[in-house]
Amino acid sequence: MPTLDASVNVRSKLPATGASIFSVMSALAQQHGAVNLGQGFPDYGIDPVLIDLVTAAMRAGHNQYPLMPGVMALREAVARKVERLYGRAYDPEHEVTVTTGATQAIFTAIGALAHPGDEVIVFEPAYDSYIPAVRLAGATPVPVPLTVPGYRIDWPAVRAAITPRTRMIVVNTPNNPGTSVLSAADGAELAAVTRGTGIVIVSDEVYEHMVYDGARHESVARSDELAARSVVIGSFGKTFHATGWKVGYALAPRDIAAEIRRVHQFTVFAVNSPMQHALAEFLREPARYEALPEFFTRKRDLLRGALADTPLELLPCAGSYFQLARYDRVSDEPAAEFAQRLVREVGVATIPLSAFYHDGTDHRVIRFCFAKRDQTLQGAAERLRRLRKA
Ligand code: PMP
Ligand code: GLN
Repeated sequence: MPTLDASVNVRSKLPATGASIFSVMSALAQQHGAVNLGQGFPDYGIDPVLIDLVTAAMRAGHNQYPLMPGVMALREAVARKVERLYGRAYDPEHEVTVTTGATQAIFTAIGALAHPGDEVIVFEPAYDSYIPAVRLAGATPVPVPLTVPGYRIDWPAVRAAITPRTRMIVVNTPNNPGTSVLSAADGAELAAVTRGTGIVIVSDEVYEHMVYDGARHESVARSDELAARSVVIGSFGKTFHATGWKVGYALAPRDIAAEIRRVHQFTVFAVNSPMQHALAEFLREPARYEALPEFFTRKRDLLRGALADTPLELLPCAGSYFQLARYDRVSDEPAAEFAQRLVREVGVATIPLSAFYHDGTDHRVIRFCFAKRDQTLQGAAERLRRLRKA
């Protein structure tokens, strides 16, 4: 083991950052043999056709560097899907970039476009990678709280937060962890507050196929005006239940995409080839993503039904594969402590929502992931029925 050279001053660029809450809760779940409804990943298999397609791509020799912005067949397939769903034709040649998951798309878009001195508005509770990406770009995060309950955008608060230095607004619909979705009216507000300001919108839409109860996904790609100043981000890990694959994409008008690609070229250069070929082929069948709302509505309702006779108060879930719950009838502990105790004493891992606020704001809410086998959800609920009113 090397000992650190004493003359090296390891000055952290993210000094306040520890292990992510997802890693912490997954490790704790493992340590205590708990049912893990914390980190957002499925515990069931992926479509075997997809596995065969990867094998076939490898056998066909797709094992060397693909094109820097992504395998053309996949960029074309993404463009076709987005046009079909949201009516916007992105040019695969210049406007679609395949990334190493949505995480890299977010990081690269923020890193490529936010400069030191710029302000970037993020809504809290915020998915955990936004603020570190802003900080590493040398820009200043400006957190704006979503309303509680409901986790909706407070437009007067956004107007108040915008300054001449605002360079970017990061939106996320369906929202993780808020489980809310943007409405068409929110889209109109977003257009109004950014009109003529030079603000770029980064729209994290990784849960685009997990919108429930007949609502439609209000992608910023649907609007001429918003699409003209937005980066739209997607994730095949989420869509095809394969979070370990880490393949996603960024869509943006050509001039914005060119900046994203400049950074992408030197951070990852290209994303793994066989997965891209397989996904391109798999996307030919729209039913494969169109089945998702029904699939996850059933999981959501199963979990909600199974938790109905616990003292947890379930919040509405309009999108994503998460269910939120208030626990103040059970305990007045802070969410981080309550979540840890749930793992240890009840055997169920969740994510405390306070982890998604830069200052640990705590509304006593925890998040369950319902992208799990029915028996996993039922097993967790059975354990949670042990909870008693305080
Ligand atoms: N954005 C949100 C809102 C997420 O929940 C996640 C992770 N599930 C990501 C981005 C990252 O996606 P990926 O795993 O494709 O990097
Ligand atoms: N997006 C996943 C979640 O919200 C976790 C991803 C990660 O662990 N980085 O649970």
